[in-house]
Amino acid sequence: VGDVITLRPYQERGANDIRRAFASGKRAPLYVAPTGAGKTKLFAHISHGAAAKGNRVLILSHRVELVDQISGALTESETPHGFIAAGYPSRDEQCMVASVQTLVRRFEAAPTPDLIIVDEAHHARAGTWETILRQWPTAKTIGVTATPMRASGEGLASVFDCLVLGPTVAELTPEYLAPARVWAPPTIDTSGLHTIAGEYVTREAEAAANRPSVTGDALAHYRQHADGKSALVFCVSVKHATDVAAQFREAGYSAVMLKGGMDRQLRRDAMRDFRDSRIQIVTSCDLFTEGLDAPGCHVGIVLRPTKSLALWRQMCGRILRPSPGKDYAILLDHAGNTAQWGRPIDEPAWALTYDQQKRKRKSPPPVKICSGCWSANSANAMVCANCGEPFKSSPRSSVEERDGELVEITAAQIAKRQARREQGRAQSLADLQEFARRKGYRPGWAERVYAARLAKRAARA
Ligand SMILES: [Zn+2]
Repeated sequence: VGDVITLRPYQERGANDIRRAFASGKRAPLYVAPTGAGKTKLFAHISHGAAAKGNRVLILSHRVELVDQISGALTESETPHGFIAAGYPSRDEQCMVASVQTLVRRFEAAPTPDLIIVDEAHHARAGTWETILRQWPTAKTIGVTATPMRASGEGLASVFDCLVLGPTVAELTPEYLAPARVWAPPTIDTSGLHTIAGEYVTREAEAAANRPSVTGDALAHYRQHADGKSALVFCVSVKHATDVAAQFREAGYSAVMLKGGMDRQLRRDAMRDFRDSRIQIVTSCDLFTEGLDAPGCHVGIVLRPTKSLALWRQMCGRILRPSPGKDYAILLDHAGNTAQWGRPIDEPAWALTYDQQKRKRKSPPPVKICSGCWSANSANAMVCANCGEPFKSSPRSSVEERDGELVEITAAQIAKRQARREQGRAQSLADLQEFARRKGYRPGWAERVYAARLAKRAARA
C-alpha cells in the first residue's frame, strides 16, 4: 500500500533530512518546525514508510487530545494503527499510537518498537523518558516540536542527539501561515517580578496583570486595531481569565473563559460559537486547552508576561493559522514579551543546549517598538513601518558591552550621557546658555557651570 499523502516541498525536505541524520549514525534527531507546518502529516508519512518496511513504530503523544489528530493523519496516509491510550481500542498493529500517561503504566502492552516518534517533544520529561529508553534501548527516535526547549529554558540534549531544522515562520508566510501585525504597548509592569525555575512567580505576575486598568488598555487597543474580530486572550491564571472575560462583556463584547478540565461538550460548543463569530473573545490561561488552535481566530491579546521563549512562541503559534478571509493576524502584546523575544517572524536561535548564563545576560533587543504607535518593527528599521515615525539614533533603552558582558542601559542613562557630552562641547558662556535654554534648565545654571569651569582652570594653572 503506497502512501497517499502528498507532502509539501519543505515536508519532503524534512523527511529526507531526518533520513540523512539516521544514515550519518545519529540515533535521535529532533525535527523543529513552527506550529502549522504540518508536523503530524510529516511523521505520519514517515511512520507509513517505516511500517511498510516491517518496522514497528510507536508514536508518543503527551496529550490525550492529540491522539485523535495523530490517528486522523495516519488514516489519511492509509497506515493501519492501534492505540495504547485510555478509552481507545487496543488492537495490535505495526504502528501504535500511545498516550505517554497510559504507556508508562502499561509497558507490557506495547510491542518492542524499532522507531519511536515523540510528538511535542519539548514535553519529553527526563524521568519518563529514561524509563522509556531503559525499556527499549535500541529503538531509533524522532522528536518533533515547534519549540525545542523546556519551560525552564533548558535544551533537550538529554533526549535527542541532533537538531533537524525545518522551515521558519518567515519561510512559511504567507503561503502556509498568516502574516502578523504586532503591537506591543508596555501596559503590564514586569520590572518588580521575581523568577522561579525560569518563569515569573505566578502570584506576582497575576497581581501585575489582573488590574482593571490593564484590561482597560487591552480593550482600547483591541477596539483600535481589531474591533469585533475573534480574539484569544492569554492570561496568567483562571481568576485572571475570568475577570478579563467579565470586563470584555461589560464593554459589550461576547466573551467566555475556557480552561482545561471543563466539560468537553461545553468547550466544543464554545469553540463552535467562536468559529461562527457568535463569541468574539475567548480568554484562557491554559495554552493547551482543546480547540485553542482555532484557525479562524484573527487576534491574540497577550496579558501573560513570560520568561519562557518556548511559551511565547507557542502563544504566537496559536494565531498564525491561515483561514479564509484572514489576510493577517493581529498580535497585541501588553506583557513585554515581544520586546524580550521578538515577533513571530523573528526566528530564535534553536539549539540542543542553551547557555543559561548567556541567557541571563541581556542581549540586544530583537525588535524596535515605536513609541508613537507601539508597532513592533524589525531591529534594523530606520522608520516605523506602521506610522512612518523615524526611530531616534539613541533608542529608549539600549545595550552596551562592558567587560565582555552585555549590560542594559536605561533611557535616562543614555540621556544623561548625551547631555554631558553636549555640555562638554558648549565652550563659551553663550553656548552654555543656549544649551540650558534648549534643555529647559533652571535660570542661573549656565552661569554656575561656567563659573565652576573657570575656577577649575584657575586651580590647575
Ligand atoms: Zn509607529
